[in-house]
Amino acid sequence: MTELLSPAGNLEKLKVASLYGADAVYCGGQQFGLRAASDNFSLQELEEGIAFAHAHGTKVYVVLNAFLHDSDLNELPGFVEDIESLGVDAVIVSDSGVVEVVKNRSKLPIHLSTQASCLNRYSAQLWKKHGVSRVVLGREVSIQEAAEIKKSTGLEVEIFIHGSMCMAYSGNCVISNYTQGRDSNRGGCAHSCRFEYSLDSQDYEKKNAYFMSSKDLQGIRFLKDCVDLGIDSLKVEGRMKTHHYVGTISKVYSEALQFYREHGHFLSEQMLHWESELAKVSGRDGGAWNMTAEAAGDSIFNKRETNEESHNLAGVVQQVFDNEIVIEVRKAFDRHDKLELIPFKGDIQNLSLSRILSLNGLDIERTNPGTLVRIPFSGTAAAMNIIRIENRL
Ligand code: SF4
Repeated sequence: MTELLSPAGNLEKLKVASLYGADAVYCGGQQFGLRAASDNFSLQELEEGIAFAHAHGTKVYVVLNAFLHDSDLNELPGFVEDIESLGVDAVIVSDSGVVEVVKNRSKLPIHLSTQASCLNRYSAQLWKKHGVSRVVLGREVSIQEAAEIKKSTGLEVEIFIHGSMCMAYSGNCVISNYTQGRDSNRGGCAHSCRFEYSLDSQDYEKKNAYFMSSKDLQGIRFLKDCVDLGIDSLKVEGRMKTHHYVGTISKVYSEALQFYREHGHFLSEQMLHWESELAKVSGRDGGAWNMTAEAAGDSIFNKRETNEESHNLAGVVQQVFDNEIVIEVRKAFDRHDKLELIPFKGDIQNLSLSRILSLNGLDIERTNPGTLVRIPFSGTAAAMNIIRIENRL
């Protein structure tokens, strides 16, 4: 069965991904990953996250995909032993030195990170000899090529299905090293490709532009090919993205995969609905990248980043009663805002804001982030459901 693998930038996002339908999540510890700026997990949080995920049928993979120098290695063996004892399902590794340490110190399954730029069967076969059980293929590989690598090597294959893309070759990029003094291959990417650059050459017209800023990958229309061709895992990018993003993407893709498994086809109206849901958590255009044909210039976004999504997280359901819910407010709202509740499964539900009440029953004009409020609601809700707000133009 094709697995949906969602990002878990912190413990709360891990729970959200699991509740909204991810089959597996990937997360980082405090060291050895490539997202130094994400919250990441302490060992204690990892233990809680693994227990929660496993109780909900979700696997947990830990990312150890930085390229390490000898001086970075001292604490790695102990860390590998610690996470194995917590029940982690696999580790995601790029560096062959890290592969050796994981093999020598644990029995953990090893997934080769996309950072290793594995693009062909011989490379995959070599990694298999080194003990890798799954390859997360480079983003330059098409679905068809991924299926052929699986067939000829017997390895599990994983490809990206949704999220931000690197304009560099499978993330092998050093722009941040030179422009910001931050090593992208040891967790310090500053997203330098999103900045404005000026092109000044006698061969080209001089211009200022965002010509290295890429569109996102949006592969929902290719789920059929991924499932039919036996791709083992579909990865959503975004450990630094929001709670709202993680919940929405996990829900949309898990529902779409489930629908295809049950019916063997998609309905166009439903596909449009899923696409409109995906658009609510992204400020950039999406594209197919290399899924079916080689990516070209139309994969470049070439616009300034605005981070202006049409919807944001307004709150999270804390408690559910017969005719009302208690929400922890994350973004201020008032009675004139349009709020919707996103259930773990099923249709989005509108919230009527006829009244907003404090916990002790006083009417509130406008909520404040970090507070708890009561809202009349008689639909189906559960603790940790996301409440989203439509941003006013
Ligand atoms: S700067 Fe851009 S292209 Fe380079 S690693 Fe970071 S996201 Fe990728």
